[in-house]
Amino acid sequence: KKQRLRLPEFLRKPDTHFHSVQLLKNDLRGHNLHTVCESARCPNIHECFHRGAATFMILGNICTRGCTFCSVPKGSPEKQEMPIDPLEPENVARMAAQMGLRYVVITSVNRDDLADGGSHHFAETVRRVRAALPEATVEVLTPDFCGDLDAVARVLDAGPHVFNHNMETIARLYRRIRPQANYQQSLDVLGFARSYRADVLTKSGLMVGLGETEDEVNGLLRDLRGVHADVATIGQYLQPTRRNVEVSEHVTPDRYERWQAYGESIGFKKVFAGPFVRSSYMADLVNHSAREA
Ligand code: SF4
Ligand code: SF4
Repeated sequence: KKQRLRLPEFLRKPDTHFHSVQLLKNDLRGHNLHTVCESARCPNIHECFHRGAATFMILGNICTRGCTFCSVPKGSPEKQEMPIDPLEPENVARMAAQMGLRYVVITSVNRDDLADGGSHHFAETVRRVRAALPEATVEVLTPDFCGDLDAVARVLDAGPHVFNHNMETIARLYRRIRPQANYQQSLDVLGFARSYRADVLTKSGLMVGLGETEDEVNGLLRDLRGVHADVATIGQYLQPTRRNVEVSEHVTPDRYERWQAYGESIGFKKVFAGPFVRSSYMADLVNHSAREA
């Protein structure tokens, strides 16, 4: 049996269990809400929850896609009911206000079973959060909506400050990592968002350690600049469960430094790169520095 790669020291986090994290989890369950932080088993959860930051995942916690890096439960809509909670937009807004968030990230599973991809519900959630927390910055991390640009426009019309759509990996690995997605389509979604709302920051994230080369990541950064993306995030892929695709390598910190320098040299306002970087990790700080840039 193949041994899993042992975590090097720079990829270890101390086990911290804050009481406040448990309280937040209880509150989230009480409101029937889901966070990516929990569903994706993010290694930053204690840190982020303790800081009062969280990424809400709306439209259910079952996804119609089967990205091999992702531990969000997969469902086929034909086999099981995937109802949408009509109270979710309101509950996300109430919870975000209760947590006193200054930076709210809203994301969703892919709902390829719905004609609008869930975009009306997504937009409504953004509107509710903006109304409940007028001072907060709102970032949306959207699915590709199967390339439906009306759906993208609908979400942008709800007034998020930051539009994020993750490329996740380089083109060559799409078939293995994001089998139902399309590299060009994801670039097009980002390009459309940039041209549709010039005042909205666009952002995209990718994971490394899946078998890509340093140059291939540089190529992806160039493609992102080709659609005028403002911010990129790069972080180590960590296998969330044994059923997910294996880690190919643990990328060393020096390589992140080179990607950051390269990305910023070709025009990104900010490239946030490091072993623990996730697209929503320290999003408040990342975007603050990008806005200043
Ligand atoms: Fe996970 Fe998103 Fe892929 Fe669904 S679309 S499997 S939630 S990464
Ligand atoms: Fe949640 Fe993002 Fe923080 Fe991870 S990095 S715990 S997903 S807010």
